Amino acid sequence: MSLAERDHNVIWHPYTQMKTAALPVPIVRGEGALLFSEDGRTYIDAVASWWVNLHGHAHPYIAQKVAEQLHTLEHVIFAGFTHPAAVTFAERLLQILPRGQCRIFYSDNGSTAVEVALKMAIQYWNNQGTPKKKIIAFRDSYHGDTFGAMAVSARSAFTAPFWSFLFEVAFVDVPVSGKEEETVKQLEALARGGDIAAFIYEPLVLGTAGMVMYSPQVLDQLVEICQQHDILTIADEVMTGFGRTGRTFASDYLQHKPDMVCLSKGLTGGTMALGATSASEKVYQAFLHDDKSKTLFHGHSYTANPVACAAGLASLDLLLKEETQQDIARIQQQHKTFAQEIQALSHVKEVRQQGTILAVEFEDGATSYFSDLRDTLYSYGMDQGVLLRPLGNIIYIIPPYCITKAQLEQVYQTIRGMQEVVSGQKQ
Ligand code: PLP
Repeated sequence: MSLAERDHNVIWHPYTQMKTAALPVPIVRGEGALLFSEDGRTYIDAVASWWVNLHGHAHPYIAQKVAEQLHTLEHVIFAGFTHPAAVTFAERLLQILPRGQCRIFYSDNGSTAVEVALKMAIQYWNNQGTPKKKIIAFRDSYHGDTFGAMAVSARSAFTAPFWSFLFEVAFVDVPVSGKEEETVKQLEALARGGDIAAFIYEPLVLGTAGMVMYSPQVLDQLVEICQQHDILTIADEVMTGFGRTGRTFASDYLQHKPDMVCLSKGLTGGTMALGATSASEKVYQAFLHDDKSKTLFHGHSYTANPVACAAGLASLDLLLKEETQQDIARIQQQHKTFAQEIQALSHVKEVRQQGTILAVEFEDGATSYFSDLRDTLYSYGMDQGVLLRPLGNIIYIIPPYCITKAQLEQVYQTIRGMQEVVSGQKQ
């Protein structure tokens, strides 16, 4: 029996309709931006394996640091105990995080990083003796799959079975070009109404919504309004963190800084499952009390896993290297040139770019995640040896920074071919 068939007998995959899904692609090795399958095929990982991989697969430096940590200390309870990897990683994160962040709270993935931020925000107000009931979020956002994260995410097909179990959220429209004023008005009205604990947002790029982009200027305005009305702000940088938008964090484009930042995905360069929520001094201080009931009662068995923290430290070393920064600049430039070219083609509705993230939206009306077009485009990419996971009629690239110029050109060539598929020139 092949690996894929054995998988099919025992595994339930995420975001996969197991009844109709094709057998999964068995990947046995990765190197740089490439994935190698059991049957000898090679794929360019143009989506960095769900946006996590920064420096390429099986990176020797990260592997070495992870191995060293594994041989020294693999895990220890993180309540009442600590270890060098967690402390050093937190110190280094705080050096690069947006101004004002002063504490790191570790968790295990992006959803839990969001969950922690929401709990911090709600309890912050409880601890002050002025409980607040509402959270503001963007209508089309995606913040994860746990219940709190689902509550502040779009009421989409993904969350439909759970709607009646999710707490109520005040949604505002995403301030895409031309709609900025409307969103500002909506947020101002909510802020004036009071009772708002926090505003959570994906800064500059809403990933799962289809790499929807909006300007730093309007976000700056929204954060400023929140600050004027004493509303906590939570930047969900799970996708945008660690260079994706061209700067280390998307929040770096703003004058007004958030009270909390959620991190995961690129946090370990795509090597280990780790999440982190950073908090400002103001937030942290609200939890310091003689009254023990004001403690943040949250934690996971694997909180601050030393091996994950070692991977994070190694990834940070690589990120801050001059060569990586040059790669980020090169990818941005290459994207820009391609964006100009593809924008002019028929059936291309819009091309969006923010840093190393590029999205091409086709005109075809089939925008749904479940559309046939999505499946066709995905299969076409795989046939060309390029892993691209369309979001409905939107194709996006969010590559590992080590992707070569030639590999990126092959990804573009595949997207050109997709344009022909959409326009019916290619079957
Ligand atoms: N927040 C954002 C902005 C995301 O894009 C995601 C995942 O795509 C999450 C949170 C959830 O992260 P995870 O899948 O690690 O739980």
